[in-house]
Amino acid sequence: MSLGLFINNKFVPGVEGRTIDVLNPSNDKKIAVVSEAGAQDIDIAVDAAEKAFNTVWGEKVPGFERGRMLIALAEAFEANAETLASIEALDNGKAYGFAKGFDVAEAAACLRYYGGWADKNHGKTIETHDKKLAFTRHEPVGVVGQIIPWNFPILMFAWKLGPALATGNTIVIKVAETTPLSAFYAARLIADIFPPGVVNIVTGYGAIAGAAISSHMKISKVAFTGSTLVGRQIMKAAAQSNLKSVTLELGGKSPNIIFDDADLEQAVSWSTFGLFFNHGQCCCAGSRIYVQESVYDKFLELLTAKVKSIKVGSPFAADTFQGPQTSQLQFDRISEHIKSGKDEGATVHIGGERHGTEGYFLQPTIFTDVKPHMRIVKEEIFGPVVVVAKFKDEADIIAQANDTMYGLAAAVFSRDVSRALNTAKQLKAGTVWVNCYNQLHSQTPFGGYKQSGIGRELGEYALANYTSVKAVHINLEQPHPL
Ligand code: NAD
Repeated sequence: MSLGLFINNKFVPGVEGRTIDVLNPSNDKKIAVVSEAGAQDIDIAVDAAEKAFNTVWGEKVPGFERGRMLIALAEAFEANAETLASIEALDNGKAYGFAKGFDVAEAAACLRYYGGWADKNHGKTIETHDKKLAFTRHEPVGVVGQIIPWNFPILMFAWKLGPALATGNTIVIKVAETTPLSAFYAARLIADIFPPGVVNIVTGYGAIAGAAISSHMKISKVAFTGSTLVGRQIMKAAAQSNLKSVTLELGGKSPNIIFDDADLEQAVSWSTFGLFFNHGQCCCAGSRIYVQESVYDKFLELLTAKVKSIKVGSPFAADTFQGPQTSQLQFDRISEHIKSGKDEGATVHIGGERHGTEGYFLQPTIFTDVKPHMRIVKEEIFGPVVVVAKFKDEADIIAQANDTMYGLAAAVFSRDVSRALNTAKQLKAGTVWVNCYNQLHSQTPFGGYKQSGIGRELGEYALANYTSVKAVHINLEQPHPL
């Protein structure tokens, strides 16, 4: 028996009866079977969302009440944190402690944060040069489509739900076909709080269910997180259908810069976390470490020791930092990148091989002797693989750091605040961390420059993605023109 699609607060089988096997990445064994959504299922989910928008949601429900429900969902996530984290560890392979302490905790924090915004989405009164009153309303856009990846299944789910529900929209969300289980567990919590049809959750393959969302004529906006390649396809589908608005949170190849005056112990710890957290499967991973020449040898020595201390193993072992990669496909893609690094003449400083004999585990890997043209320097690897290179001075590092089609994140390590801020200003990236890495908060915007995306998630900025601005003009004493 398979787990159905979640439409109108009920689990229903897909119309065509097709299913997807969900595998445990630690041992490649089947742990669940879920219904696969086809285009007809997306139509059914959109109709449910449209009906809910017109009858029980949108501006029919005061913002304060929508906020109360979002906060209730945050509390339900917290009350079910151990179950949600266990599902993430089993389905995605991430270490249970991080799943509970980071993914689920931050997902709840995000829902609570946007619960607070739900009754504060005010417009403005605007003075004009005529005798009238003008004001703006921030109205929900209607039915929104959301497509999320597998690297942070429950956290990406919350990032998408929070701002869309706070601003009064209804949702059809497609969760990744490899990691659908935590969202389907959350569906049960949603059904206890929200009216039917407000949140509809499906899974299925990108080319079928994802494409049906991005080209749907009744969906007013699509929000996507995933690869740059698919982001392009989504924009194209949106342009060729109803010109729905698009926000994209895509890939990265983020530079992490270590100046010679940095606290090296701190820089090494943050840099290790910056790349190896979540097994390197972070869009903002600090995958290009650049170290100023005079401290390169010392930094590499300390980094090597730190990376060697990473415990790779079962997501349920208390001391595990790195579990398996999430799927055979990802394991193969990363292995292929490692091979390309070797073939192109880079040095495998440590790692570079499979870890163990079953599941999708990889050794934490450091490449040195890299050149700017190499694929491992240019392309997103999305695994536990980092390249370490040298730089001379500030001009050199700005040129190297910005030599990428991506612009999601960057970091600077220096004790000199002027140097750090001057560098931060010149980096073409949506987030710059100074003396830290991978710090994400519901309150601060996140998104990319260049081909890392369009728009910003999180913070107040994300509200604009889900609202249309209406200007209302009220004539006071303005005579008519004829
Ligand atoms: P992907 O972009 O193919 O998949 C992400 C989501 O998009 C999934 O839900 C998928 O079903 C859906 N999708 C796929 N094709 C689609 C289409 N044509 N129309 C609509 N939706 C579609 O990512 P992937 O294959 O799982 O991973 C590939 C690479 O993407 C990774 O190696 C990594 O570089 C990058 N990635 C980035 C992020 C991120 O957070 N920015 C997340 C996952 C993957």
